[in-house]
Order: sequence, then C-alpha cells, then structure tokens
Amino acid sequence: MARLFGRAVEQAPAAPDLRLSAVVSRILSLVSESSLIIAPGEKVLLASDSARALGIVRDEKLVGEELAAMVRHARKGFELVESRVEFKRGRLGTGTFELIVRALLIPELGSGTVLVLIADESESRLVDEVRRDFVANISHELKTPIGALSILAEAVVEASDDPAAVRRFAERMGTESVRLGDLVQEIIDLSRLQSQDPLAHPSFVLLENVLSLALDRTKLSAQKRDITVVPSSAGGLGVMGNQEQLTTALTNLINNAIAYSPDHTSVGIGIESREDIVEIAISDQGIGISEADIERIFERFYRVDPARSRATGGTGLGLAIVKHIVTNHGGDVRVWSMEGSGSTFTLRLPLASNSQESE
Ligand code: ADP
Repeated sequence: MARLFGRAVEQAPAAPDLRLSAVVSRILSLVSESSLIIAPGEKVLLASDSARALGIVRDEKLVGEELAAMVRHARKGFELVESRVEFKRGRLGTGTFELIVRALLIPELGSGTVLVLIADESESRLVDEVRRDFVANISHELKTPIGALSILAEAVVEASDDPAAVRRFAERMGTESVRLGDLVQEIIDLSRLQSQDPLAHPSFVLLENVLSLALDRTKLSAQKRDITVVPSSAGGLGVMGNQEQLTTALTNLINNAIAYSPDHTSVGIGIESREDIVEIAISDQGIGISEADIERIFERFYRVDPARSRATGGTGLGLAIVKHIVTNHGGDVRVWSMEGSGSTFTLRLPLASNSQESE
C-alpha cells in the first residue's frame, strides 16, 4: 500500500490536495483495519466507522494518550511506528480493546499528517481465553455430577431386587442429569459470549426492548413465588452493543432477585440516565449478601450457599455472565447489599448518542 501512496503522490503538490484525500479515502475503504488520518493538533481529518466505534474519536479529535504519543512519534520521521495498545472500552469498568496500531507520516496529505491503521485483536484474545477457561471449568465442575451419576448407577445395580430403592435412585439420577444438562448449557453460553465481541459490530439497542424481553423471561418464576416485579420506564434510552447479550444480563439479575427473596415480596427495576451513562438498578427485599461474599460473587461457580443455589437451579455462573456482558459493553456492575434486608445490583453502561442511533 505504501507503494500505492508513493505512486499517487509523485505528481502531487506539497500542499494538501483534496483530490488526493478523496483517493486515499477510497483506498482506505477497502482496508480491513480501522483507519484514521490525523492532522497536527491530533485533529481527525478522516475516520472509518469502525475507528469511531472504538471510541477513539471525540469532537473530531483523537483521544487516548498512548495513541496520540504514537502519532506524534510518527510525525517526527518517515518510519512506520507500530505498537500494541490497550484502550479502555468507554469510561466505565475494566474492559479494554486490544489494538495493534500502525502510524505513518504522509506529508503529501498535508504537513504533519499521519495515517493510522488499527487492527482490533480483542476478539482473538477472547477466543484464546475461552479455550483455556473451558478446559478448567469442565474439569472442576462437571466431575461432581458425573461422579454422582456413576455412584447412583452402581446403587441401582446393587438394589436390583428392591423396586422401591431402584425407583428412588433412578429419580435422583434424573435430577442429576438435568443439573448436568443445565451446567453444560451455561458453560456453552458463557464460552459463546466470551468469544463474541459486542462492540466489534455494535447495533443501537433500545433499553425498553431489553427490559420487556427480560420481564417476559422472568414472568413465570416471579408468578410462582408471588413476587411482584415493578419496572420503571426506559423512555427512549439506548446503548450500543448486542441486544441478546444485554437481555441475558438483565434476565440473570432479575432471576437472582427472585431466587434469593422470600415469597410475596417485590423486586424494583430503576432506570436513570446521568450525563452520558445509563444506570439500571435491580433491587430486592431478599436475604442479602455478607460483606465477605460480595467480593467473590462475580467469580465463576462461586455460590454463597451451594445447597440453596442448587435448590433454585443455580450454577454459580449467572453473575460471571453478567459481568462479562457489561464489561464487554464498556460498562460495569456494582452491588449494594445488607444481610436480611436485600440487595441492589446496578448496571452502568455508556449511553448511545442520537447520532449513533441513526447510523
Ligand atoms: P447462582 O446460579 O448460584 O445464582 P450467580 O452467579 O447468579 O449464581 O450468583 C452467585 C451467588 O451470589 C449466588 O449463589 C448467591 O449466593 C449470591 N446472589 C446473587 N444474587 C443475589 C441476590 N439478589 N440476593 C442474594 N444473594 C445473591
């Protein structure tokens, strides 16, 4: 591509050339990497949609100190500057994009003008993590129910002339296999989630839709326990990302609020926007969580009371899934709780602007 530029600029004057900019912009539209053309003062002259989706352009300026330093470095000479850069997903949470950035001075486009090409490696990093975690999760968690099944199978053989005992053992085998099935499904869901980056191809997601889907999915369990879910309106608020993933996150939190609350109580869902952030708070009047446990509940397979969690069909993966989803959307999740009084889980996500909605 450097040769392409070289050829195109042979007859070009030293001053910025509009025709040349148009040619470069057309060439860049063919490049799979995100691209930017930056003038001195880190002014963005051109940015591809995917570069904007990374959140590195604000008010037509390049944001991110590390990126800006690379551009300044490239401006000093004619050498290609290349580096791996971690860039925060939005202002919240600990989620990052893993970017391979290349910057090259192209003075023919204007004095001090730098071309930046960015490859997003986040998705391939996620796939690696998934592969590693999947093996660890399977060996830890699946061994227990599989062990129980094989002991029950032996018990059935030994009790073959006692029909009542055979029935009892067979029923327990049924319960263990349902549990095993749920566990496998959640591990598959989590792995799938981890390998999909919601901000790689984001859409505008209306929170009202997420809310009504999540309420639909939790209606039956709320009814069974006579728990009233009181939602507030999400108005026209929206975020950029993946609707199915966000619905899963909200569904998991509402399901937990129901599972860890006494019958006949209520669960509130508050939605509020503050500047460029939306907060979704799910509050229950349930058993609450101790200070020591709060630190650990987002870990995979962590359960405060494994027996209770098993009775409610829990696998200890629900909150790990929630955390993954919001982190990958550039947000975070916080929890307030008091034992015996209840808990509030708050999701915070970057609000989508109106211009993103119309894109
Ligand atoms: P599980 O499948 O066991 O519900 P989660 O990852 O969803 O797993 O939650 C982890 C643990 O956190 C639960 O086992 C439970 O002890 C605690 N927990 C989660 N949500 C609540 C809540 N709303 N109230 C009280 N405890 C909760």
